[in-house]
Amino acid sequence: MVLARIAQRSAQTTSVRAASKWGKFNWEDPFDLESRLTEDEKMFRDTFKRYCDEKLMTRIVMDNRNNVFDRDIMYELGELGALGPTCPAEYGCAEVNYVTYGLLAREIERVDSAYRSALSVQSSLVMWPISAYGTEEQKQKYIPDLATGKKVGCFGLTEPNHGSNPNGMETIAKYDKATDTYILNGGKTWITNSPIADTLIIWARSEAHDMKIKGFILERQWEGISTPTIPGKYSLRASETGSIFLDNVKVPAENCMPHVEGLSGPFGCLNNARYGIGWGAMGAAEACFHAARNYTLERIQFDKPLARQQLMQYKMGDMLSEIAYGLEAALTLGRRMDAGTASSSEISILKRKNCQTALDISRTARDMLGGNGVQDEYHIIRHMVNLEAVNTYEGTHDIHTLILGREITGMQAFVNKE
Ligand SMILES: Cc1cc2nc3c(=O)[nH]c(=O)nc-3n(C[C@H](O)[C@H](O)[C@H](O)COP(=O)(O)OP(=O)(O)OC[C@H]3O[C@@H](n4cnc5c(N)ncnc54)[C@H](O)[C@@H]3O)c2cc1C
Repeated sequence: MVLARIAQRSAQTTSVRAASKWGKFNWEDPFDLESRLTEDEKMFRDTFKRYCDEKLMTRIVMDNRNNVFDRDIMYELGELGALGPTCPAEYGCAEVNYVTYGLLAREIERVDSAYRSALSVQSSLVMWPISAYGTEEQKQKYIPDLATGKKVGCFGLTEPNHGSNPNGMETIAKYDKATDTYILNGGKTWITNSPIADTLIIWARSEAHDMKIKGFILERQWEGISTPTIPGKYSLRASETGSIFLDNVKVPAENCMPHVEGLSGPFGCLNNARYGIGWGAMGAAEACFHAARNYTLERIQFDKPLARQQLMQYKMGDMLSEIAYGLEAALTLGRRMDAGTASSSEISILKRKNCQTALDISRTARDMLGGNGVQDEYHIIRHMVNLEAVNTYEGTHDIHTLILGREITGMQAFVNKE
């Protein structure tokens, strides 16, 4: 009897559905993501997209070729409110939600991952920790200039001997009571923007805190800091990357961030940045997909457009589906970030999956252009080599796999103890 009623109700629903109209498919936005964005989100995104198209896309080929980061970009990003966009308005920031931040990352990485890296580092790895872990004085002193782009920041966590395992950190801070300063010694490597940074966030083991990791805000002009560029970088060529050497650097005690201790400090920043990377990687993937589609529509081989070949359509069907999934996941996670319900492991899923997807798409797209695929004016090869670094930094693909493995099994595979 009960089952019969359920069956009857289900039949009614089915007939309603059958009678209703099906939606129209838009290959450029398969799941109609656009309809789930607010007017404010779209407005901020559209203004930023115009800037990316008009001011960044026109620079990138030469900047990438010449291996230069145009410092003016930081002022321009500041002008648009794109630096530290989720930080509080009282320090000069746009204070938009996480979905908007993700949309900005997607648009800028559609142009180049190097530019998105500059935006991510300044926003999530420099301004965000000062805002979350700093004193009121630190926030007032540092955030406004970082928000306008007057100052450039960098984030020093990775060390020559400790990348995937930052817990091995050797950089040390000794407290000197007589001068109320910390003396920092150590070295950081692979640091985005270190050669041009004015404000350096440095993570170090602090003797005064039982050797726990603490975050310090350093200023470039202080004695004992050197930041040489790492030469020979074939990825993210339009981004500055360097080391940081700290030789008895005297840091006033007031520049230690008081509200965090241990690895949760840097990991909190990385969670924010990884979320943005999840969106950004989809922007790069979309750029490659669109370039491959346009090229194969135009390119005639065997008397017909390459796009008519089943093998090409198979590849594009895959790309379209993967991008649609990746963007859905990014939006879902963005809404959860905004609601304060997201977990760091969800961020691992997004960072890991979307970066690998984007890298795979860029490799396939490059192949679809044949010889032209390795020429930088077609853009795909640049995205492809960039995505190698994007897949590596902020936790490699495999490290995120191990994070998820730990969640799934309850067992820690990184180290030889439970
Ligand atoms: C262009 C660029 C910009 C960067 N910017 C910054 C920055 O601004 N600030 C910063 O602090 N860092 C930055 N990094 C550093 C980046 O975060 C590290 O490169 C990354 O975390 C990996 O560390 P590693 O290079 O030491 O590799 P390693 O840790 O030595 O790893 C090498 C390989 O071993 C694998 N591996 C490691 N441990 C395990 C394990 N337990 N089991 C299985 N496999 C394992 C890794 O997945 C990887 O494939 C940047 C890197 C690049 C390339």
